[in-house]
Amino acid sequence: MREPEKSKPSRLLKVDMHVHTHPYSPCSTTTAHEAIEAAINSGIDVLVFTDHDTIWSQNEIEDLQQWAGAQLRLLAGIEVSCLEGHFLVYGLDKVEGLRYNMSAHDLIHIARRHSAAVVVAHPFRFSMENGKYCYKLDVDAVEVDSSNTTQTARQYAEKLAQDRDLPRIFASDAHSPRDVGSYYTLLQPPIDTISDLIREIKKAKP
Ligand SMILES: [Zn+2]
Ligand SMILES: [Zn+2]
Repeated sequence: MREPEKSKPSRLLKVDMHVHTHPYSPCSTTTAHEAIEAAINSGIDVLVFTDHDTIWSQNEIEDLQQWAGAQLRLLAGIEVSCLEGHFLVYGLDKVEGLRYNMSAHDLIHIARRHSAAVVVAHPFRFSMENGKYCYKLDVDAVEVDSSNTTQTARQYAEKLAQDRDLPRIFASDAHSPRDVGSYYTLLQPPIDTISDLIREIKKAKP
């Protein structure tokens, strides 16, 4: 068994699993390189790009990983805009079958077919109705706090996670370098691949 670089066996990893980069997320002002530098500077161990309705290719991520070096593990997921709000999906490698404003139910169906993990992003941000709808969905975890979560939305998100007994995720939802790493989830090492991330998201403490 190989120890992950840089971490002692018992040290939990700081994972920021919700970050937007430009130009894949037009609303972001951060290039991928700037996001990587910001993550390293704020002590993040694992950075996950989740651009809007776009997935980085494996080749692109490998090139960026080379540039980032051994200090940071770089992975890619996606934030899908559904009719009922936004969902972070980890474990899909292409956008086939995904559509802007698809139903959350259809998205989860696709995610399940690929053994991907689904996290509700900032529930209750857009409406109470969207947040409440998540009570009916087969999601793996709830993002309870981020740079895009109000105090009130956080309270409802906490209650959703608690009522459903779901793992709680903290992630920056950064759209600028300054926000990268501002929120993170502590997860057990090793996290070298998307499969590692999926396993640890599911095990994160409710
Ligand atoms: Zn969002
Ligand atoms: Zn986002």
